[in-house]
Amino acid sequence: MIKEIRAKTILNHVKQPDTYFGLKYNMNLYRGCQHQCIYCDSRSECYQIKNFADIHVKVNAVDLLAAALPRKRVRGTIGFGSMNDPYMPVERKYELCRRSLEVIARHQFPVHIITKSDLVLRDIELLEEINQVYAAVSFTITAADDTLSKQIEPGAPPSSARFAAMHALADAGIHTGVTMMPILPFISDTEENITHLVELAYRSGASYILPWFGMTLRAGSRDWYFDQLDIRFPGLRDKYVLQFGDRYECDSPNWRKLDEVFQKRVSRYGIQTRMPIFTPEKVSKPGQQMRMF
Ligand code: SF4
Repeated sequence: MIKEIRAKTILNHVKQPDTYFGLKYNMNLYRGCQHQCIYCDSRSECYQIKNFADIHVKVNAVDLLAAALPRKRVRGTIGFGSMNDPYMPVERKYELCRRSLEVIARHQFPVHIITKSDLVLRDIELLEEINQVYAAVSFTITAADDTLSKQIEPGAPPSSARFAAMHALADAGIHTGVTMMPILPFISDTEENITHLVELAYRSGASYILPWFGMTLRAGSRDWYFDQLDIRFPGLRDKYVLQFGDRYECDSPNWRKLDEVFQKRVSRYGIQTRMPIFTPEKVSKPGQQMRMF
């Protein structure tokens, strides 16, 4: 079900310094997500989103953003996509991302997008314009192989489409790379997957890969995940219960070896394991030169 709603606010301050992506603000233009990844943390009870498959479209989001940005005294990176994928299929119709990027370009703010969709290429010209300040697009890719990515991220474009989109963005000079997480214990935590994924990222122009060899599970997301395991990977539920119990952080039992393989590959290819981030600065008054990072 797709439902149009009106939000009260859209741009949130990121309170703790964000060492991963350097975000100062973030926003969620939608509620719920059509990508339906089996491991999705946004399904956790703590977020209180009932019926995660129902999509709520914040139809006044762009107006709220246009009103909020001129009041910001600090120019810092705006993040898209913490609780859902901003380029899920519904974005084709509503274009909330595209219209938000137009506002952001007008106000010369930096942006970071995290997505699993090649639909981001629709907005490449806007991203090039924003990149005169700073624009980065991180693709979450957890499985090098399309068959496996379709099993664990059934509503998202396959990994090959994400790599192709990354290639186009890299060619356009936009910062791009991979958030290689979660890596699912007993499913995608193989040396072959990690090696292949790093090679494909290298060939696709990734300048960084942010790795984590494990996943999180908690009330809400755990039940959904286990039900999906029963459907797609029969027998694995028991292995998880035995290995992790009720634990929140579930590292792959193989993580040390995977990290060794990963580090060897990325250093061979000159890929960074941190992304270049924009340093927040005061918004300059008219006539003042803006300091780039
Ligand atoms: S794309 Fe992200 S938010 Fe959407 S279902 Fe997958 S993990 Fe959840």
